[in-house]
Amino acid sequence: MEGEMVMSGAMRLKVVTIDGPSGVGKSTVSRKVAAALGWTYLDTGAMYRAVGFQCRQAGIELADSAALNVLLARLDIRLLPPLHEGDDVRVFLHDEDISAAIRSPEAGMMASQVSALPTVRSTLTALQQKMGRAGEIVAEGRDTGTVVFPAAAWKFYLDAPPEERCRRRVGQLRAKGQAVPDEAELLAQIIERDRNDRERTIAPLRMAEDAVLIDASELTADEVAERMLAVVSLL
Ligand code: C5P
Repeated sequence: MEGEMVMSGAMRLKVVTIDGPSGVGKSTVSRKVAAALGWTYLDTGAMYRAVGFQCRQAGIELADSAALNVLLARLDIRLLPPLHEGDDVRVFLHDEDISAAIRSPEAGMMASQVSALPTVRSTLTALQQKMGRAGEIVAEGRDTGTVVFPAAAWKFYLDAPPEERCRRRVGQLRAKGQAVPDEAELLAQIIERDRNDRERTIAPLRMAEDAVLIDASELTADEVAERMLAVVSLL
């Protein structure tokens, strides 16, 4: 079948997964790996951000499962390649361009909250699997190697201490000309988001048993991408 390959006797999907905590540089690295392979970059976090944004916009309480189900049944998220190299993917919600609105730290917190809800996860996981069915995808998120694409041929887990990730996030926000929150507050948000993501019952953030761990602390994005591409080309 298209998108599948034989590795060590098992059918593996022609998919690279890159998981890890927030602010570790997954997006930059994923874009680089996808560009080098000529594959599609799937930013799963952008989808959780879009759902969080829509809940807030529609004033939906997360405990209101009936309203949430209606929202999910009508969900219309489109991810498009960025207009400029190095930018985040463009995200449209029912034809509204929400690309900039979903990138604030608050939108990240909102995404983290909706991402713990079973109905949100099952809806987005199914959409992601559909997007990856044909293979040649670089998927980035928290559970892409464990839950979304357990049969992916190449899995990576990128990690770095929260303080290092906080420094990087400040640099990114500054470079984009966005408001930079108080650093102590940002660090507290990163730690809280890590805890939410690691401790939730469904699809918690964790390294897949067959993933390659890369410590991003001392490496540039190019160096991380090179290491990943070296692993991908080995097979
Ligand atoms: O990666 P990003 O920071 O854009 O993700 C936003 C939030 O979406 C994460 O903090 C996490 O709670 C959630 N998420 C998730 N599973 C994914 C991707 C993101 O739960 N595969």
